[in-house]
Amino acid sequence: MRLQELPRPECYDLALWVDPAKDRFRGEASLELEIAPGTRSIELHAVDLELGTCTARDSSGEVRVARIRPNPERETLTLVLDRPLSGSSASLDLAWEGPLRTDLRGLYLARSGKRRYAATQLEAADARRFFPCFDEPDKKARFRVRVTTPVKNQVVSNGAAVRTEKRARLKTVYFAETPKLSTYLVALVVGELEASRPVHAGSTPIRVWCVPGKKKLAGFALEVAAEVLGRLEEYFGLPYPYGKLDLLAVPDFEFGAMENAGAVTFRETLLLVDPKTITLGEKKRVAEVITHELAHMWYGDLVTMAWWDDLWLNEAFATWMAFEIVDGWKPEWKMWLDFESHRAPAFALDALENTHPIYVPVANASEATENFDVITYEKGASVVRMLESWLGPAVFRRGVRQYIRRHRERNARAADLWRALEQAAKKAVIPIVTPWLTQPGFPLVAAQRVDRAGQSHLLVEQERFFANPKVGPDARAETRPIPLVLRVRPEKGRDRIVRALVEKKREEVPLGPASDVRWVYANADESSFVRALHDGAILRALGQELRRLAPAERMGLLGHQWAGVRADRAPLADWLDLVTRLGDEPEPDVLGAAHGPLTWLTDHAVPALANEHAGRFRAWLAGIFSPAFAKAGWSPEKGETDERRQRRAVLISMLGNLAEDAAVVEGARQRIGPYLKNRASLEPNLAGPVVDLAAQHGEPALYDAYLRTMKSARTPQERTRFEMALGAFRDPALIDRTLALSLSADVPTQDVVPLLARMLGNPSARERTWEFIRERWADLSPRVSPGLASRLVSALPALQKPLYRRQVASFFATHPLPTAARALKQALERFELDADLRARVVLDLRAYLRG
Ligand SMILES: [Zn+2]
Repeated sequence: MRLQELPRPECYDLALWVDPAKDRFRGEASLELEIAPGTRSIELHAVDLELGTCTARDSSGEVRVARIRPNPERETLTLVLDRPLSGSSASLDLAWEGPLRTDLRGLYLARSGKRRYAATQLEAADARRFFPCFDEPDKKARFRVRVTTPVKNQVVSNGAAVRTEKRARLKTVYFAETPKLSTYLVALVVGELEASRPVHAGSTPIRVWCVPGKKKLAGFALEVAAEVLGRLEEYFGLPYPYGKLDLLAVPDFEFGAMENAGAVTFRETLLLVDPKTITLGEKKRVAEVITHELAHMWYGDLVTMAWWDDLWLNEAFATWMAFEIVDGWKPEWKMWLDFESHRAPAFALDALENTHPIYVPVANASEATENFDVITYEKGASVVRMLESWLGPAVFRRGVRQYIRRHRERNARAADLWRALEQAAKKAVIPIVTPWLTQPGFPLVAAQRVDRAGQSHLLVEQERFFANPKVGPDARAETRPIPLVLRVRPEKGRDRIVRALVEKKREEVPLGPASDVRWVYANADESSFVRALHDGAILRALGQELRRLAPAERMGLLGHQWAGVRADRAPLADWLDLVTRLGDEPEPDVLGAAHGPLTWLTDHAVPALANEHAGRFRAWLAGIFSPAFAKAGWSPEKGETDERRQRRAVLISMLGNLAEDAAVVEGARQRIGPYLKNRASLEPNLAGPVVDLAAQHGEPALYDAYLRTMKSARTPQERTRFEMALGAFRDPALIDRTLALSLSADVPTQDVVPLLARMLGNPSARERTWEFIRERWADLSPRVSPGLASRLVSALPALQKPLYRRQVASFFATHPLPTAARALKQALERFELDADLRARVVLDLRAYLRG
């Protein structure tokens, strides 16, 4: 499916006529090409574009294009020339017209109220829907862009605007020529926009662009960008490569953000912020996403993967880097705890039989799109982090710098990075890292303490971890080199960190004199991507001194033990015992690590219990968390720390959603009215749980109030919060209203899938939502963009029942979603795993509650 090595573009001169008020746009391009002598035909990508005149030219003059042959499966056109081209360079002039798309890719229409915008999203392979091009990441070229549009519009592209010509009601904006870029990194946004005043990071001017009226929300993004740009320059040892930096909030946007060189596009929620009402979680996420995109300016944009099979390296690296850089800037934010929660879904997905290795061969564009998942991002980042920890930060950075310098403005493969790291480390990296990339899944490390002749050892046994207990021993029998980091708690003094490279199925790691080893934790700081299950004796010791573990380890321990329960490798009672120790847990993220599994139990297992036992489960939860909430109260004390504020929010969610604590539910209901009138009436971190809880118990009048608040929201976060809460109501009539709304212009395309996923999570709405998806698919499917399709499919196992599993399988067999093919297999597997687990866990839960 690949294009030939030659012709290869050197430069694209693009003239575009874009008026977002119109449904079509047009363009003219002049391409400078390097060619093989004797070239008779030129194949280039184009989808849904209507080509007008095109001519080629070589040193002996013009060459007519005799005919244009479409190759629909390859998404290309072949221009067959009248005579062979001579020499090694040629030029090609093309004119075309295309639709302003409505599916969030290519050059597409984004609406904000009555205003219309044209914006691009070209990754993975949608530049071909914008202009005819050689749409592969290693066909890098320079771009000279000029855009003609009505004078009221602003135009932003990768290069700085260097000149504007006005003629009557139109203007043409000329942009500076870019350095060499892959086609997927080209950007254009056209429409009525306003820009912040530039701030500077060194000599780089940084601006935020947004729809009119929202400029006042740009301050935080500018602060983050200026701060982290300097830190990234320092890390890479190279100045920012693209001259100016524009950050654009696009009112309808498929992904979180996109790293177009010099013109990064974002969802509004991830860029525009009111510091007075934002929650700390939202703020950290904004900082993380901005940093992720800016890390790509070097890692991805300046040095680009040669082909989509190495996409993971771009994303894994940028993901890891964002946490690293933001943590360096704001250590008090404890970013690595967020990382721990972000990677929980990667562990869950990677425990399935239908997971995939980080590295997968990619044949075409939809396979490339399919790879934008938690394996690529979060597992990939975990492997990068493991490698950094094993090599040491200074060595790792030296290797990365070398790699970036060596390949800048060109393309590279993962192997080039390993080579650079090996040179920096003066040891072999490839044998360690390769199994992590090419083998799917991850190890289960069973840890057992063995004392012998006065010395203590940790006996570790590895096998591949599967969520499904029925997977046979052959599939599990797999080893890989694990850079393992152990925390040893001595009888006296400070903890010791022991490092070991575990390569065999069974290995013993020496821990020192037995008399001085109180306990050991097998994944210190959660630095390895493994599940660690400790033997009973260690587990009891860890439970008794839970707070002596680092917060990330407490999160890890809860995650590992729960995974053990799912896989039938650890008793539920042990996990529940750990939860009983969380009443005085100070870290909101640790409570968060228990929240997910507790939600699963509440949703899947508790409904199968008799009322009496369900009541006991809720009382058990309330018994653990009510005292902490009683102490914390609804209102913060003066000068209260961020942790305490966030912890209060998690406690409200635990008690209100899971324990159905009447007082907490009533507290939320009392507070929603005042909050709708005055946003300052609630501590910002409580907005999420209060808005959500009130909706769950809300009447039609409250629904109407949410709808009004959503439409007149003052910040993007507020808009999303109320929009998503529309999916939390339980009244069937209100559920139907929200479903109908998902087909209307009131819900932007970007939010349709998240809203439906939210409704599938709502026990009162899920079955009706599934019916709606099937019945209204013809209207709905154009609003399920390719990049979000897998998210919709992944939310379906919430339907639980075998009947729905069959329906899901047959529905998508006849209504295929190519970018969610793998997600569908995973969803079907999860339906079954959940059913098995429900059957097992209900018995154990009943026994525990009786005990
Ligand atoms: Zn990225």
